[in-house]
Amino acid sequence: MISMTAVQKHYGDLHVLRDIDLEVPTGQVVIVLGPSGSGKSTLCRTINRLEPIDSGTIAVEGKVLPAEGKALAALRADVGMVFQSFNLFAHKTILENVMLAPVKVRKKSKAEAKTRALELLERVGIANQADKYPAQLSGGQQQRVAIARALAMSPKVMLFDEPTSALDPEMVSEVLDVMTTLAKEGMTMLVVTHEMGFARKAGDRVIFMADGAIVEDTTPDTFFTAPKTDRAKDFLSKIL
Ligand code: ADP
Ligand code: MG
Repeated sequence: MISMTAVQKHYGDLHVLRDIDLEVPTGQVVIVLGPSGSGKSTLCRTINRLEPIDSGTIAVEGKVLPAEGKALAALRADVGMVFQSFNLFAHKTILENVMLAPVKVRKKSKAEAKTRALELLERVGIANQADKYPAQLSGGQQQRVAIARALAMSPKVMLFDEPTSALDPEMVSEVLDVMTTLAKEGMTMLVVTHEMGFARKAGDRVIFMADGAIVEDTTPDTFFTAPKTDRAKDFLSKIL
């Protein structure tokens, strides 16, 4: 579903992605771990070309991402992304936030987009908030709207970059529950998270990054009980 081959990226002198090879099969849930600054967000952002790469290839469902243009917009729509900050449109209602891209990008009728948006809001447990504005919702509710909004595009892959890091502790589980359900339903997911309980429970695979490289690629169980590298052991000693 996602295929990255020999991907290199620099920010000036900083080598932020070092020769990344990563194959994510359909339906797999990949947890991305690593210290701050190791390149996790950059990895996510390159997958839908929010960030260009210097060399290498990235393909989604066998289609290599073009650098720009209409074809890029179409392929980007196949990759849903949820960030730490929810980025909802403040002056649109919850329902409008979820309907917007399907109407503009997928050219759905408003009626069709509305039906689907209400279904998705139901699924993330906030259909009763559809006519409110983002600021009237809690952080956990806003993040669930952001997930519904991404799902409204019928993406083939969902990328999550620390989706619960900005939330108050009591709201973390309501967002993780939605993600767990999505994982169980077979969505292909790449999840950057510090929620180790979620990583162990929902993850099929862990990749551990350090200094822009993937240094471990294994099962959650092996990673947490028998990390191989000193970098991973050091990381785990600080977070567990
Ligand atoms: P992580 O998500 O693992 O914390 P990032 O991918 O955000 O790491 O960042 C990796 C490195 O790239 C960091 O050293 C960061 O400071 C740097 N970086 C990230 N974005 C930019 C940018 N737009 N310009 C320059 N440097 C950047
Ligand atoms: Mg990050």
